[in-house]
Amino acid sequence: MKSTIKALVKKENAEGLSMEDVPMPVLYNDSVLIKVKKTGICGTDLHIYNWDEWAKKTLTLPMVIGHEFCGVVCDKGKDVKNIQINDRVSAEGHIVCGFCRNCRAGKGHLCRNTKGIGVQIPGAFAEYICVPETNVIKIPNNINDDVAAIFDPLGNAFHTALSYQIIGEDILITGAGPIGIMAAKVCQVIGARKIILTDINDERIKLAKNLGIKLSYNSKQNNLKSIMQQNNMKEGFDIGLEMSGSKEALNDMIKVMNNGGKIAILGIAPTSFEVNWNEIIFKMLQIKGIYGREMYETWYKMIALVQSGLNIENIITHKFHFTDFEKAFKIMEEGNCGKIILNWS
Ligand code: NAD
Ligand code: ZN
Repeated sequence: MKSTIKALVKKENAEGLSMEDVPMPVLYNDSVLIKVKKTGICGTDLHIYNWDEWAKKTLTLPMVIGHEFCGVVCDKGKDVKNIQINDRVSAEGHIVCGFCRNCRAGKGHLCRNTKGIGVQIPGAFAEYICVPETNVIKIPNNINDDVAAIFDPLGNAFHTALSYQIIGEDILITGAGPIGIMAAKVCQVIGARKIILTDINDERIKLAKNLGIKLSYNSKQNNLKSIMQQNNMKEGFDIGLEMSGSKEALNDMIKVMNNGGKIAILGIAPTSFEVNWNEIIFKMLQIKGIYGREMYETWYKMIALVQSGLNIENIITHKFHFTDFEKAFKIMEEGNCGKIILNWS
């Protein structure tokens, strides 16, 4: 086995990333070594590339970044029991402590001591990655590498959409980024009534419509009240999924929720902002914050629905070899894209 590997590293306290030769990851007894095949670029990776305030306070440099991936197991530690060499896998990117109250109650997604692959510990934008067996997810044969590489954000979409009972409800999703569009697909499959998806970027609205989300609107050109009228909706939305991180989107959403409506917030706002709490109180709304995926219920449900026909492959709009990462990050920055895949073969 090689002693050094190629990896995308955040090396310096400045914008950008560099392709480096780094040591082969150390294989721990409870972990597996994975030869990475495909990776997806996440908004988080862009934050790290751009070296914004959040990235500066979160990362210790140097750091191999990236957490959306799929690959093949090529070695395993002596305590590994359930994963075999040659298994095709992805992994939950949140490594939890296993000892806090929530972990011990089987609610790992609520762990207070979570560490993120590619943020606090070396990530997947590399030829090889070492991951604890507990986090590894086997990929069934009928799911391809590209789709498996974006299970992490698809899992965000699932976890948010499954927060509340969707069947027969009217849903508002703000933000037609890859996760908002995938959440709309999930709501369709689960049996929502009306699914209204908004964005302020026409390219994203076009992508959403091409992927079968018919009621996608530019909310700069159509306010939500007029969207409701156009769709013969009188009382308001039952469920809101905030997937843009925009303060206007959340505040506008609150205004069009029906009494007793429920909101799940995934979008991460760049700065803190005011919300109309009295409207939340008098409308008796429920609000839930979402981080990551449920461990591991989200993975079971997501794989089951993909196997039974949920098709998200067309959310992938660009594919590059990893050496072309600069081109990929530029397209990501421009925002006129769906998911972007880097090929590590
Ligand atoms: P993205 O940035 O690709 O998409 C966000 C979309 O929101 C963009 O298309 C943008 O044009 C749109 N938008 C901006 N202002 C809007 C407004 N006022 N109304 C409607 N749309 C508006 O992001 P993504 O990868 O799809 O992720 C969605 C959000 O979820 C991001 O904020 C991301 O940071 C966040 N996220 C959170 C978690 C978590 O665990 N909580 C995990 C992954 C991503
Ligand atoms: Zn814990």
